[in-house]
Amino acid sequence: MVEKITKKNLIKSADAVNSKNPEISVVIPMFNEQENIDNLCARLLKTMDSVKKNYEVIFIDDGSSDRTPQLLQSWFKKRSDVIRIITFNGNYGQYVAILAGFEHVRGETIVTLDADLQNLPEEIPILLKKMEEGYDLVGGYRAKRHDNFFRTYASKIINFIRFRATGIKMVDHGCMLRAYKRHIIDEVVKTRETSTFITALAQKFAWHPIDIPVSHEERNAGSSKYSLYKLIRITFDLLTGFSLLPLQIFTMFGMLISSASLIYFFVEVFKKVVTHHHGYGLHFAFVFLLLSVIILGIGLLGEYVGRAYFAVCEHPSFVIRDILEKKNKKKEEK
Ligand code: UDP
Ligand code: MG
Repeated sequence: MVEKITKKNLIKSADAVNSKNPEISVVIPMFNEQENIDNLCARLLKTMDSVKKNYEVIFIDDGSSDRTPQLLQSWFKKRSDVIRIITFNGNYGQYVAILAGFEHVRGETIVTLDADLQNLPEEIPILLKKMEEGYDLVGGYRAKRHDNFFRTYASKIINFIRFRATGIKMVDHGCMLRAYKRHIIDEVVKTRETSTFITALAQKFAWHPIDIPVSHEERNAGSSKYSLYKLIRITFDLLTGFSLLPLQIFTMFGMLISSASLIYFFVEVFKKVVTHHHGYGLHFAFVFLLLSVIILGIGLLGEYVGRAYFAVCEHPSFVIRDILEKKNKKKEEK
C-alpha cells in the first residue's frame, strides 16, 4: 500500500532522519597510515562505544598510496553503522582533508584526531565531559611532547609567532585532539579555509574555549608526514592568514629608511652648500632616498593588496553568538 504524502507524514520522516543524526562526529584525516589503522579503529571504536552516545567516525583518505583504502574498506564492512569514508583522488593535505570531513559531519559535537595514535583515542571522553560543562571548544595541548627535538621546537616557535602575530590565544594549535560544538564548525566551513590554520580559525569562532593537557606518545608507526618545508609553510600561512603584519613590517621598514635617508640627504646638501665639501655623498644620499621611496611604495601597495585579500578570504568580521531582543508581537502571532 502506498502511503499518502501528508504534512504529518513529512514531519514524521524528517524526525526519523534527524533521530538518525549522531550526537558526536569524529573526523580523522589519513595519509598512508596502513600500519596504524587496525590499532586506531579497534581502540577508537571501543572508546566511542563506551561513551553510550550515537556517534559517527569520518575517515578522510587523503590520496593514500599504500593499503590504507583497503584497510578502511574492511573496517567499513565490519562497522558501517558508525564508519563513513571520504576518499580524495589525490593528496591535498591534512587540513584540506579535515575541512572535507567538517563539511560532512552530522553530529552536534565534532572531535578531530590524528590517525597516528600520538594522541590517545581513549582521551576523547575527557574532552566530551569538558564539553558538557558548557565549553564550546576543548583544545588538547601536548603537555609532554614525544616528537624529535626539531619537530618540538619548530612547533614551539610557530606557536609563539602565531600568538604574537594574530593574538589568538590557544596553547597548542598543532594538537589535533580537539572537540568543537557544531556552530564553530559551521563557521569554519563557511570560510572555505583550507590553510594550515584551521585550528586557529576555529579558536577565533569559539566563545567559551578551554585548553586541557592531553597525553602525547611517539608516532605508533610510519613516519611524520611533515618536512621542514611544510613547517615553514604553516608559519607563513598563519602569519598571512590572520594579519597584515608582514606587510606592515615592510611599510615600517620603508618609513624608517626614508626618514634616515632624508636626514642623510639634507646633511649632504648642507655639507655641499655650506662647507663646499666634494665627494659622492650627495649622489649616494639621492640613490638611498629613491630606494626608500620604492620600498615605501611596495609597502603601501601591500596594504591595498592585503585589504583585497581579506575581502576575498570571506573570513567573517564578527560572529554573533546570540541576539536578545523583544519579540515583535505581530511576528509571533504568525
Ligand atoms: N595527513 C594527511 N595528509 C597529509 C599529511 C598528513 O591526511 O598530507 C594526516 C596523517 O595521516 C595524520 C595527520 O594528518 O593522521 C597528522 O600527520 P602527521 O602525524 O604526519 O603529522 P605530525 O604529527 O608530524 O604533525
Ligand atoms: Mg603525528
